[in-house]
Amino acid sequence: MSRDNVYQFIDLPRVDPSKIPLNIRKTEFIEIYQIFSESQANAQSDRCLECGNPYCQSKCPLHNNIPNWLRLVHEGRIFEAVDLAHTTNSLPEICGRVCPQDRLCENACTLNSEFGAVTIGNMEKYLTEKAFEMGWKPNLKGLIKCDKKVAIVGAGPAGLGCADVLIRNGIDVTVYERQQEIGGLLTFGIPSFKLEKSVMTRRREIFTDMGIEFKLGIEIGKELSLDHLVAEYDAVFLAVGVYQGMKANIPNEDTQGVYSALPFLISNTQHLLGFDSPDYVSMQDKRVIVLGGGDTAMDCVRTSIRQNARSVTCVYRRDANNMPGSRKEYNNAREEGVEFQFNAQPVEIIVENGIVAGIKIVKTKMGEADVNGRCKAEIIPNSEEVIPCDVVIIAFGFAPHDLPWLDSVGVNLDKNGHISTCGELKQQTANPKIFAGGDITRGSDLVVTAIAEGRDAAQSIMEYLNV
Ligand code: FAD
Ligand code: SF4
Repeated sequence: MSRDNVYQFIDLPRVDPSKIPLNIRKTEFIEIYQIFSESQANAQSDRCLECGNPYCQSKCPLHNNIPNWLRLVHEGRIFEAVDLAHTTNSLPEICGRVCPQDRLCENACTLNSEFGAVTIGNMEKYLTEKAFEMGWKPNLKGLIKCDKKVAIVGAGPAGLGCADVLIRNGIDVTVYERQQEIGGLLTFGIPSFKLEKSVMTRRREIFTDMGIEFKLGIEIGKELSLDHLVAEYDAVFLAVGVYQGMKANIPNEDTQGVYSALPFLISNTQHLLGFDSPDYVSMQDKRVIVLGGGDTAMDCVRTSIRQNARSVTCVYRRDANNMPGSRKEYNNAREEGVEFQFNAQPVEIIVENGIVAGIKIVKTKMGEADVNGRCKAEIIPNSEEVIPCDVVIIAFGFAPHDLPWLDSVGVNLDKNGHISTCGELKQQTANPKIFAGGDITRGSDLVVTAIAEGRDAAQSIMEYLNV
């Protein structure tokens, strides 16, 4: 089919899918964005210029073939579009939902500044959902199996990306996961209002049909040793993520009523899924303060709103323009009723009768930009004030947790505790049989970069195994 109107991008503005009504949004843990209709998808995909050197594709860490799958969607060739999407991405329906497209592909889109970028993320979500609805399944017919087997530790996006590539190349894959469901932070960290959990369950069924074996509820280093996997398998891929919450390093941080972001979010999802959730805490009727300005902070404030907190305030030491989190999630949080205290640096948690009673802050002003272009927060002398609250949630990022079970296998850590991929091949560790990727090697980052490292590791494993 030829293009009807090459100037479609001028005549037809960029459209984002509508959100579900605010009153429902604020109380329920369901995805807030509705899916494009067929006519919207058809029209929006036709806005693409099909650039000769597509910047969108080069900026995507997976180098997704965006212009070609947009064209296939416009032509109604959904199965071909979804097959093409899977040649570079193991979880396109997830990336369509949670990637920060405004920083990656859509930011790089040629149309971005003047006409509004093509809505790439929502098209990715549309094409995968449409394909599933039409009964699409990966076609592994004719695949020749080889006699190699690989163990993967961790069923987050890095582990799943690696498993997907290996199984499609005839290698037996077993994924060991300590949780009762696959997905890693996709399942237990990212709240359901960004990514509904049935999406991951469906993907587990697809991967299982493809032949990937999941051994859930098994923690390596506890129930099973890494030495055992190294002895039993031809190669091992470590994709265990980072789970040590950063401290605020202010007085009274260990007081009752102070929580770390990740246990708070994980236990909320476990609770919603009906799993055992010993750390679960509800913010109902509480005055909640969340410290931090990233996406995890936005997930905490919006989770607290849905738990029916009395008030929710995000305290951040820089201004709105210098927040590290996505603008889209900040706007969603504001719409849902979150208050923001910008230019406020926490200095002490105020305690009364052994529990949290408030947070002391000092005001800041924006100083010069650092090497990343973000302005430094400079403290204004004598500007202390106390904000009363019942709960403080600290959302300052994550560092690697202890991995003592690595000691016996000759894998090195770097100075920050991340696994060092210092081997000859991409993602290979100091032990040539062991590969690693995702947050545990690069530091807390993104779903798409974790998938990319998992897929790269699979290519290296195949090279190592001569497959
Ligand atoms: P993980 O997703 O952490 O998966 C690691 C897996 O290994 C887990 O399932 C864990 O249980 C398992 N595991 C660990 N140790 C063992 C063991 N010893 N034995 C067996 N299993 C083990 N990124 C985005 O792109 N968009 C977002 O919107 C976004 N939102 C986020 C929100 C929050 C709250 C957080 C914390 C992160 C968010 N991220 C987001 C970042 C993204 O989720 C991570 O970068 C990504 O999940 C890292 O993938 P991974 O596979 O390396 O690790
Ligand atoms: Fe299409 Fe934008 Fe990519 Fe160009 S940069 S190919 S217009 S999506």
